[in-house]
Amino acid sequence: MGIRAGDTYFQLARLAYRGISALSVMDMIVFDLSCSAGHGFEGWFKDAQAFKSQRKVRKISCPVCADTDIARVPAGSRISHGHAAAVDRAAQASAEARAWRETAQALHAKVAENCENVGPRFAEEARKIHYGEADSRGIYGEATVTEARELVDEGVPVLPLPRLPESDA
Ligand SMILES: [Zn+2]
Repeated sequence: MGIRAGDTYFQLARLAYRGISALSVMDMIVFDLSCSAGHGFEGWFKDAQAFKSQRKVRKISCPVCADTDIARVPAGSRISHGHAAAVDRAAQASAEARAWRETAQALHAKVAENCENVGPRFAEEARKIHYGEADSRGIYGEATVTEARELVDEGVPVLPLPRLPESDA
């Protein structure tokens, strides 16, 4: 997937997820989610209630293994205790960065393998699928911030693909 996420465009995949760790982006909430196999990913939701209801009907699935047993990653799970742990924190941050990169790469590979690239038609196609006007299938492509927000508002399950590191792949 040669297109990079930028300030204006996001790569999105019509996949599901589940989880939470709040960081408010525009008027959306981003939750850190994890499946029962431990794959971490982000989910965008209009609000916490939207997450709960989508999770309940299993509209959120792990982008790596399609598991629908999704949980929100506890906000405190990444906090280290005590200032004596600086070295440990650095090591942990490094390990987390590596794990995140591997997860991101696995996610991109999985999406490219299993989903249809619809490019800039993402929002249109995701909406068609959501409303049963097109065959249900995984797709990926690009959408503007406005389009992404509209999809989230409508409850269309979409997933922001993490930006991959420029190098050190
Ligand atoms: Zn998984």
